[in-house]
Amino acid sequence: MKGVLPPRIDLLSDTLTRPTPEMRAAMAVAEVGDDVFGEDPSVNRLEGHISGMLGKEAALFMPSGTMSNLIGLLVHCGKGDEFLCEAGCHIFNNEQAGYAQVGGIGVRPILGERGALRVDQLQEMVRPENDHLPRTRLICLEQTHNRAAGSVLPYEVVAEVCDWANQQGLARHLDGARLFNAVVASGISAADWAQHFDTVSVCFSKGLGAPVGSALCGPAEKIKLARRIRKMLGGGMRQIGGLAAAAVYALEHHIDRLAEDHTKARVLADAIRNASGLTLQCDPVDTNIVIFEVAAEKGTSEEFCASLLKRGVRLYPISRQKVRAVTHLDVTMSECEEVAEMLADS
Ligand SMILES: *Cc1c(COP(=O)(O)O)cnc(C)c1O
Repeated sequence: MKGVLPPRIDLLSDTLTRPTPEMRAAMAVAEVGDDVFGEDPSVNRLEGHISGMLGKEAALFMPSGTMSNLIGLLVHCGKGDEFLCEAGCHIFNNEQAGYAQVGGIGVRPILGERGALRVDQLQEMVRPENDHLPRTRLICLEQTHNRAAGSVLPYEVVAEVCDWANQQGLARHLDGARLFNAVVASGISAADWAQHFDTVSVCFSKGLGAPVGSALCGPAEKIKLARRIRKMLGGGMRQIGGLAAAAVYALEHHIDRLAEDHTKARVLADAIRNASGLTLQCDPVDTNIVIFEVAAEKGTSEEFCASLLKRGVRLYPISRQKVRAVTHLDVTMSECEEVAEMLADS
């Protein structure tokens, strides 16, 4: 992107948000200490805050959601073990198969609908005890589901799948990078969602608007092990209270406002639904991610995005014909209305 002006309206991802002046102020005055020794008061406050919100015994601050998910799998699975997941999930597609590279863990992906799996699809997927076979140890769900355009997995479906998994003796991990989008969209608390899982990862750097960070939450004994693995992976950080303070600020001030991002996404979705040659995927749009298909006669998704970029708007061509738009803290409603108009007569 050298020599190209930054887009005026950037819907590439909700990771693009910059810390607000108020968040920066909270970061500037944060107390700090050496977190590898457990002595950063701001990190300890954050870990207490997020574990409390999720109703878990403990939490661990992580540099990224990718590390939270990797360690979330490593505390449950060993070499030759296998986990079940939805085929479009981030862990399977977008994290370099870290579970295999680092943990010698295998994966059994299963195609879902809007990111959701049903118990009847899973029943045959747990392998019996047999010297030929990997051992099925865990199921992983994603809430909201990124590739399913930010869909919220229905509560009853999550509860049913997790109850079933529990009966099979499988551990349950939730990739909750956007769990708070699901909380706001559903009105169901984070603790209610989290109670169905042993471990839950959440991201502070997506719609919540913090510059960096994630947390893995779960039972004290698993989080103690997670802490040891985080150090091995080079994720032991020192005076990071400023970053933790940004995350605490985000949890206190940026959750309810996610509803605005969802409204903005619906404005885009309404325009796409009525535009000729554009087809909305995962209609209706539940949260802040909109995915649509561009009809071949209009060109490829890259060409479509290039023409919008010339008008100052950046969207993400995620496949040959599919485009993604993500709303967030740094785009206003009127900017989204402007993009909606461009899409309507694109
Ligand atoms: C962004 C994301 C992650 C990983 O987070 P990073 O902080 O970018 O490593 C994991 N899962 C989902 C669903 C995500 O959208």
